[in-house]
Amino acid sequence: MSSTNNHYLVTSALLYANGHLHLGHALGYIQADIWVRTQKILGNTCYYICGDDAHGTPIMLNAKKNNQSPEEFIKQFYDAHIKDFADLGVKFDYYGTTHSPENQKLTEQIYTAIKNNGHIITKNINQAYDPVENIFLPDRFVKGDCPKCNTCDQYGDSCEHCGATYNPTDLKNAKSVISGATPIVKESEHYFFNLPQFTELLKTWTIGDHLQSEISSKLQEWFTAGLQPWDITRDAPYFGFKIPNTDNKYFYVWLDAPIGYMACSKIFFDQNNLNFDDYWKNNNTKLIHFIGKDITYFHALFWPAILEGSGYKKPDQIYVNGFLTVNGKKMSKSRGTFILARTYLNHLDSEYLRYYFASKLSNQVEDLDLNFNDFVLKVNSDLIGKLINIASRCSGFINKQFNNTLAKNLQINNSNNADDNFGNIYQDFLNKSDTIINHFTNINYSLAIKEIMALADKANQFIDYYKPWALIKTGDTDTTHKVCSMGINLYRILISYLSPVLPSLAIKSSKFLKASTDWSNLNNPLLDHEINTFEPLLQRIDPLKIENILNDSKS
Ligand SMILES: [Zn+2]
Repeated sequence: MSSTNNHYLVTSALLYANGHLHLGHALGYIQADIWVRTQKILGNTCYYICGDDAHGTPIMLNAKKNNQSPEEFIKQFYDAHIKDFADLGVKFDYYGTTHSPENQKLTEQIYTAIKNNGHIITKNINQAYDPVENIFLPDRFVKGDCPKCNTCDQYGDSCEHCGATYNPTDLKNAKSVISGATPIVKESEHYFFNLPQFTELLKTWTIGDHLQSEISSKLQEWFTAGLQPWDITRDAPYFGFKIPNTDNKYFYVWLDAPIGYMACSKIFFDQNNLNFDDYWKNNNTKLIHFIGKDITYFHALFWPAILEGSGYKKPDQIYVNGFLTVNGKKMSKSRGTFILARTYLNHLDSEYLRYYFASKLSNQVEDLDLNFNDFVLKVNSDLIGKLINIASRCSGFINKQFNNTLAKNLQINNSNNADDNFGNIYQDFLNKSDTIINHFTNINYSLAIKEIMALADKANQFIDYYKPWALIKTGDTDTTHKVCSMGINLYRILISYLSPVLPSLAIKSSKFLKASTDWSNLNNPLLDHEINTFEPLLQRIDPLKIENILNDSKS
């Protein structure tokens, strides 16, 4: 067990307040949550901070479509997100929003700092403009015919038919998606963050062990192409923060979104009398971001440069996870595989999903497939058939024959079976703890699960070897008592090891055992200890529930 106390500030990618949490999102949050829970169990100081990303054109326009103010619009998603996370067992120390006075203040401070440090340049740019709605149009809000292959109804940034990329002003027969009007070209002065000034710094930082190797290699392509100044301006109307000393210019959502990590942490630190600079300016603490691979560019290039340019520390680690596929394919509304977290939770416990994800997650940037046949088989076989089975087959004897009380010692007199391999089984289980902790800490959860399930197999072999159901008939109550008590103690070790993955099963098991399931308490087995009467701690998954989830996701 680790004895040094490390200090971590951990974030997960901010969730856009324009829709509900789906299972693809859930993967990244569960990955980070397991890591944070592991660190907390080890006694490290680890704060898990996140929030809604609440600004930008899509939110502004969707709110308008719903006849709501943007504030009302984002509030409903915020409330839903909070509930979904709680039911997924994802436990933040603080969950906020980027639409906060604290974030506005920090965004202005950081902007002023990068500006005063000479990292802002201004340029006039030409943009598509909707003359009916009086709004500059983001690339995806202009559609027309591809300038290269003439395919109609293509977005303003790229052609889905021939793959060409271009500017919205290049489209033929262009139309505004909002009003249908023909866009005009209008000039506007924009502020740019001068990213090329940070090229050398980022080249060093991106190869410096802060990123997974495949991400690090991928980013080198951007250096080869050359970094470009980054437009951090959007013209009014825009839902976001106004740029100081301008009348009609706003910060692009991607500037204030990551600053939202800081703002949310600041609210948490202030509420808990902790020092903000200890986590954002001090290299003795570790700043760790968990993100999906689609937002790597923002987090691994812009973000470290913005932090450096404004006098803060750069992230210590960015962990990138792959996408979720369902039954081998991209999540799809028509196949019913675009599954909202709430739809899943309406039918199944989050522990199954957490276990399945953990059993497949490694620290590589790989897509993870949620294959529902495999999901049902694995959960039923591992969690019910192996793990819960240990508790259920032993507790019956303890409950009925031994007054719910475990044996005074676990020393089985087995002189006839000296080579049974189970002589030190309790210690053998404990000896695996460092290996399992290392796998969890290195985000190799699938390896941790493999180790734990191998132990579960061993516990079942131990019970099968002694056959308490036969022993009791021979009148050897002493050995029966010890074997079943050992089984219960082994179950306790297993559930402790699994507690970062299965927090709610760990709590239920702790009530059943009338004992703590903390890793640090495992050195002493439960002896002469009263437990509760066993009740099923987790049910098998009925495959019919999967059909219901898929059907509900089609509507
Ligand atoms: Zn084309």
